[in-house]
Amino acid sequence: MKTLTVKASHKTYSILLDKGLRHHLDVILKDQQYSQVVIITDEQVAHHYLEEVLASLYKTSLNVHYYIIKPGEQSKSFTVYEDIQRYLLSQHVDRNSAILALGGGVVGDLAGFVAATYMRGVPFIQMPTTLLAHDSSIGGKVAINLVNTKNIIGSFYPPDMVLYDTETLYTLNKQELRSGFAEMVKHGFIADAKLLEQLKQMMAFSINPIIDGFDELLLRSIRIKQEIVEKDESESGIRKHLNFGHTLGHAIEAIKPYTHGESVMYGILFNLFLSEQINGTENRLLTDSLIDWLRQLDYPLSLISDNDVDVLIEKMLNDKKTINQNIHFILLKEIGKPYIQSMPTPKIKQYLYDFME
Ligand code: NAD
Ligand code: ZN
Repeated sequence: MKTLTVKASHKTYSILLDKGLRHHLDVILKDQQYSQVVIITDEQVAHHYLEEVLASLYKTSLNVHYYIIKPGEQSKSFTVYEDIQRYLLSQHVDRNSAILALGGGVVGDLAGFVAATYMRGVPFIQMPTTLLAHDSSIGGKVAINLVNTKNIIGSFYPPDMVLYDTETLYTLNKQELRSGFAEMVKHGFIADAKLLEQLKQMMAFSINPIIDGFDELLLRSIRIKQEIVEKDESESGIRKHLNFGHTLGHAIEAIKPYTHGESVMYGILFNLFLSEQINGTENRLLTDSLIDWLRQLDYPLSLISDNDVDVLIEKMLNDKKTINQNIHFILLKEIGKPYIQSMPTPKIKQYLYDFME
């Protein structure tokens, strides 16, 4: 089993990563003083894993409840949030009960915000089951959406622990694997050229979590996120570097039917292009071999057209990270050297047109 410790401002918590953790929750939780455990999960994850997680929890003396939501972003809503709170109250869930988020980023964000606010905060355990959740379950951000504005109601609420059973990644479809893998590539670009190289070598033809050594790469990617959030929990400084690829990525995700990671991967390519345009081309970042690799992994590479530019700019301006009508991009001086670049909208428009050519 691999273990990492994360230091958040008011607490320290562990990330345990191993194949088959879901079968050993009785052992993992034996020293915790919870009065009960409430699993929050979605229908799809429940179909694959709820029975096994319950079997392992039933070996403890804990009282166990579960609440199943519909899969998908729509569940990060006030309605579902309220339904869960009502359920907790109806089951007399007290403040020593733990909320266990079993699922991807949607379940983690929603269950985390429930845990942060029910009775002003109850214990919270993350059990990520997607590749993307290696990113979303670490760093303590929890949130729900308001109408079409993503993650606008939320909080910083670090979990008590993160239990990452990497065997659960085996049932993810290719599109979900692509989504999470983009964050691993992002972590490589902003902090670890060697990780990026190894990802290219080991995943040259497909993203395969079964391959030997995958957990090691995943842990490296987690560690990069962990080190950045430890230095800047509240996102006032270097945590912004984690938004590499996300300025444009979020805007695309809002208007097109692509996953978070597919949109972010395109945003990464645009940021590499911008980095070269602004910092000179002596360190070529946006290479043909990178594009060939992403094509091999089936990443969509023509997500937007000239007609989308105005609405994309509008979306980027409405982002909660935008300040004074200037849009911020994370660019690279070279791999592992990110910095924040602020840019006026006419310039970005022109770069977008040039990039799409
Ligand atoms: P998700 O939770 O919707 O999961 C994607 C799909 O995969 C769902 O249909 C789900 O049912 C299914 N699924 C999950 N685990 C599975 C498994 N093991 N086998 C088969 N199917 C499985 O989405 P996601 O991509 O994990 O997360 C996206 C969310 O994460 C977004 O809402 C985003 O805002 C949020 N996010 C949060 C942070 C953060 O720091 N809190 C960071 C990035 C993203
Ligand atoms: Zn992301």
